[in-house]
Amino acid sequence: MLQVKIVPVTAFAQNCSIVWDSVTKDAILIDAGGDAQRLRQEVDALGLTVKAMWLTHGHFDHAGAVGELNQYWDVPVIGPHQDDAFWLDMIQDVCARYHFPIPQPVEVTQWLKGGEVLTLGEHQFEVRFTPGHTPGHVIFYNAENKLLWTGDVLFKGSIGRTDFPKSNHAQLIESIQTQCFTLPDDTRFICGHGEMSTIGYEKQHNPFLSGKAG
Ligand SMILES: [Zn+2]
Ligand SMILES: [Zn+2]
Repeated sequence: MLQVKIVPVTAFAQNCSIVWDSVTKDAILIDAGGDAQRLRQEVDALGLTVKAMWLTHGHFDHAGAVGELNQYWDVPVIGPHQDDAFWLDMIQDVCARYHFPIPQPVEVTQWLKGGEVLTLGEHQFEVRFTPGHTPGHVIFYNAENKLLWTGDVLFKGSIGRTDFPKSNHAQLIESIQTQCFTLPDDTRFICGHGEMSTIGYEKQHNPFLSGKAG
């Protein structure tokens, strides 16, 4: 069975997901954004073996702990799309600007394009390309459990910011419509910040997408 523990990290309370198979105890981390020591403790307390770290996008609050964690784990770093490389290259500068601890550099093992299927044991995750918040953002969908990781594309009641370099609001809306809202209404999603929601709920209630916004 696939299990998930959401660990909010950094002052931005970014959701890092520890995802594992309950039988093999093999795990992946999605968006290890900070607080590397805390994430290591969580993984050790659960008795897991981390096999890879996956990234939805290159922002430091989603990738900041990857370099430090890989000094211990040395596992593949998978994602995001290569168009987010400039964000990962700036990660130390951006953290300095926000007065965050300067992280270790992030080295991506495999860039994604969308359409790939990533695996954790027998569990499959479809990669979907969702530019807009950043140009290289991807999301991960596990059809078996109707579970989606949306990063900073779609939140409960909100959507990602598009006031960054190379952000694009229209592209973000199109990504949500074509890559998120095409999934079943009872798909639950874990977003980069805040509570979980479902695709059906957001179609009805999200003011940025339902046409109710001013
Ligand atoms: Zn972001
Ligand atoms: Zn974020």
